Amino acid sequence: MVSYTKPIDPHVHFRGEEYKYVNPSFLELGFRDARRAGLAGVLEQPNPERWLTEEVVVEDRLEQGEEYRCNIHHGIHVGLTNNFEQVIRALDMVNRGVGRSNSDKTFYTHSTGNMGILDPDIQKHIWWMKGVTGYRGVSIGHFEDEQKFVGDFDYRDPISHSQRQTPESELVQVERQIRSAKDGRFRGTFYIAHVSNPDTVDYIERERGMGKLPFSVVLEATFHHIFLNTDDYKIHGNKVKMNPPLRTPRLQERLLEYVLAGKFGVIGTDHAPHPVERKNSDSPPSGIPALPFWPKGIELLIKNGMSEEDLADLTFHNANSLFRLRLKPRIIEVEYDPTLWDAYGWNPFSRIDGGSMGLSFS
Ligand SMILES: [Zn+2]
Repeated sequence: MVSYTKPIDPHVHFRGEEYKYVNPSFLELGFRDARRAGLAGVLEQPNPERWLTEEVVVEDRLEQGEEYRCNIHHGIHVGLTNNFEQVIRALDMVNRGVGRSNSDKTFYTHSTGNMGILDPDIQKHIWWMKGVTGYRGVSIGHFEDEQKFVGDFDYRDPISHSQRQTPESELVQVERQIRSAKDGRFRGTFYIAHVSNPDTVDYIERERGMGKLPFSVVLEATFHHIFLNTDDYKIHGNKVKMNPPLRTPRLQERLLEYVLAGKFGVIGTDHAPHPVERKNSDSPPSGIPALPFWPKGIELLIKNGMSEEDLADLTFHNANSLFRLRLKPRIIEVEYDPTLWDAYGWNPFSRIDGGSMGLSFS
């Protein structure tokens, strides 16, 4: 049993019509897991099939969530696309609070759903649009640069995914977008989803230290990038394929150290389930289920010395104020329930969820 402030998970994918045949739906399962982990809120990413990029679709999605969410806050990061008129409508939606959050999401590479905005001129123009309209929302990015990918993914050699989507590809894209956001006079919050490369953290700290950031930057960590690594391919194969991919044990340990040192603003799970048959196929999609891990993830952070106060900031208060959710902090007691993984057909955290893992840094 572990007691903690009910967390907000700012990064979940509950899927949509692409998995219409899955029963119970990933939306229903997601809220079941959120309830069991005692979450106060979840913020959904915009790339299920129908994309959450237009007002009617976003409203419809929130309506679908009503059936399952109980008292859990359900918000949506409105997706941006290559269509400037859509971007104008999306930013206006964020300003009006249509998604019950104040955030937009851009994929700077194609990931599940192929929502990528890859053209550097379009990327720059969108920062300029945000700057010129005085946009103050939270601009979330999936930062990888496809130009920096090396070699090909081979499903028979799962680690080839990590070798292809290099740590550098994340850093380079973050650097480029920080520059463009500055040039565009962006004044919102620059939010880096699922940081997988500790060098990205060092770069942001350097920029901050030199007073070179005219906007605030928030770093998001995931449980899988701080607790799992390329060794997990040996156990799970392509089932632990996700974007950005798992890193070497050395990089993973450094990321965990950075989380413990208070360098991150928030934790999001990037819960992104697929049917297990698809994960086991010769074209395995990216993403893992992760919501059931919350109580164990928190337990491991405590075990590794994180104070209750820092933990509450990282898992609740920071997201609550950043996304203007105005939720009240509440403490709950939760027991980690590994049987929740059964619904997904496998447990990506099986190597470390026995609970005996005290990490030591020497
Ligand atoms: Zn994601």
